[in-house]
Formats: sequence, structure tokens, C-alpha cells
Amino acid sequence: MRISYSSFETYNNCPLKYKFQEIDKIKTPKSKEAVFGSVIHGTMKFIHTPGILSPTMEQAMEHFSNSWNPVVFENEQEERAAFTQGVRIIQDYYKRNNPADYNIVKLESRFAIEIGEEGDKHIVSGIIDRVDRTDNGFEIIDYKTSKKMPTQQDVEGNVQLSVYLHAFLSQYPEEISNIENLKVSLYFLKHGVKLSATRTKEQLESNEKMFLETIKLIQESKFEPNISPLCDWCGYQRNCPMWKHKFKEERKIDTEEVNASIQEYIDLKSAMNLTKERIGKLQEDILSYMDQEEVERVFGENGIVSRTLRKTYKYDDKKVKELLEPIGKWNDVLKLDPTALKSIFPVLPSSVQREVEKAKVLDKETKSLGVRKK
Ligand code: SF4
Repeated sequence: MRISYSSFETYNNCPLKYKFQEIDKIKTPKSKEAVFGSVIHGTMKFIHTPGILSPTMEQAMEHFSNSWNPVVFENEQEERAAFTQGVRIIQDYYKRNNPADYNIVKLESRFAIEIGEEGDKHIVSGIIDRVDRTDNGFEIIDYKTSKKMPTQQDVEGNVQLSVYLHAFLSQYPEEISNIENLKVSLYFLKHGVKLSATRTKEQLESNEKMFLETIKLIQESKFEPNISPLCDWCGYQRNCPMWKHKFKEERKIDTEEVNASIQEYIDLKSAMNLTKERIGKLQEDILSYMDQEEVERVFGENGIVSRTLRKTYKYDDKKVKELLEPIGKWNDVLKLDPTALKSIFPVLPSSVQREVEKAKVLDKETKSLGVRKK
């Protein structure tokens, strides 16, 4: 199959969004963040396009201003704030960088690389914002206009940069022997911060494997929705079973009866939680009262409360093992503890984590109702 890096990222954020976008091809208007990002990216390209003289900051501002699209913003205030932010980004960029200092090799360069084995090949495509020649190698740079900054550790494992390096190496294969001098960087324009890392051949291989695993999930039509803060920016809420009901006009049935049932269920569930808390507190008080009175039963107007002592036992693992192992029965009583597995999972090597994940099979499926009260 053919997959772009951005749709791979979409799948990893929410498989159902990928389906709406890439398979059902449902069109949504471009978000204001996406529009802002493309105007800034266009300006960065303008700043670094090789010429006799590099553009001055004023020329870059003019370019930015001419590419500005005010239509996507909800009101004038929002539009002015975004425009001012764009101006600040350009000013800050010129404060920290002299465009003439860089030896630009490629700008907004499209790629399409082949991954996978014979008989199961796939094409990954994308656009690399910028490639610079450095003193001892190259630097691949991707501009980000997001507010959130990742940690250095995130950049070390960033899949996008690994894919871009892979694509770069497909065009400059001889540079593989110089891999330690091939820098991959994310430039956070809103913060004026560039975070860089390098990759090893092993990292590139494991990155490819991860990509192939995602492709397999897509081919198996695994398109579960994934609720996350990103839903706030998703243009498919009206199509998505996790959000659709929020829009009254999208409901097939919208009777008073069904709305009352939902309301009552939410109220009862929260009353139940409050009751549970209150029962816990009353239990404590009554147990302490029983101790003071030196009694095991207390009498109320409406009934009797009794204290019973319940004991639970556990076996001495070592002793039981010594008894069962010689007669070949020890393995029969051993069972994988999912809680213990979950707690050691983060410290497992990533290759083992992936294999453990693959070993997961559906045990049983039940439906329950969760409630989040407004
Ligand atoms: S609204 Fe959220 S869960 Fe639904 S498709 Fe979009 S990102 Fe996925």
C-alpha cells in the first residue's frame, strides 16, 4: 500500500480518523492551525530559497502578509492574535538565524521510499521541510508550529525524523557510512528552539518494523476510535460514534423518554458513588464505636449491624513449589499475572514490548457504561 507519513501519524493518533480521512475520503475544512502552519512553512521556504541575496526580514514579512488567509478565523480578534504570532515567529527567527549562513541542499522536498520485504512492499511518502549541508555531514530539519514542546528524549525516538532520514539515505546512500554525522532536528518556531538528535542503523531498522506493523493493522481494517485531547481539533466529530450524539441534529432518535433515561442514569451513578463514600465513612465510625462498647452487634431503630471476622489465606510459594515440582504439577498451578506484566512492561526492551503486544489475544468482550458528570 501507499501511505504518507502524515496519514501514518493520523492512524497512530486515532485509527478511526484515518479511516474517515483516507478510506471514506470525507472532506473537512482545513483547521486554522493547519492554515497558519502552511503560511509559516511557506515563509520559511521563501527565507531559505537560494538566490544571490537572502531575503531580508522585511521581505519575509511581506511574503507572510501576502500569503495570509484571514477567512479561516472565527473573529477579528482571533485573526489578529494569529497574525501577531506569525510576525513574532519571523522576527525571532531572524534574531537567531542569518539565512545566508546556511548551505541549503533541499527545501520542501517530496519523497517516496519503499519499505518491507519482497512480495510485501509498501511506499511511504512525505515532504522534508529542509536539508542543510553541515561541516561534516547533513542536517534534516522539520519545522513545527505547535505550542507543545517535546523533550529531548522524545526527539531521540521521533518516528517522523527517522522516516525522513531513511528517505534522505535513499537519495544519498553513500552517507550511511557517515550516519553519526547526519543530524535530524525539529525546529519549534513558536519557542525559537531547535532540538536535534542522530540515529543508528538499528534505530532505522526498528522504525521500519514499526511502520510495517501499523500498515498491517490498517490492512486488517482495525479502525477503533481513540478519544484524546486531539478530538478537540478533529473535523470528524459529527461522523464519530464517540462524539456524534453531542450534536442534536445528528441524532436518529431524540425523544424526551430516552433523554430522561440518560439523565437519570448519570444522576443515579453519581449518587451511587457518593453513597459508597458515605458507607465507607459510616463503617469506620461504627467499627470504632463497637470497639469502645466492646460489642460485636449494635442495635438501631431499623435493624441490627453485626461485625464478622473474615479471614483470607495465601500459600507459601516456596514451600508449595518444593512439593509440586518433583511430581510435575508446579506448572499446572502457575498463571500469568496481567497486573505484574503491566507493571514491568515499561522497562522491557521495545522489541520485547512489541512481541508481548503481539501475543495479546481477545479473552472476552463485555459492554459497560461509564459516566463522566458535567
Ligand atoms: S473525534 Fe476523536 S475519536 Fe473521533 S475520529 Fe476524531 S480523533 Fe478519533
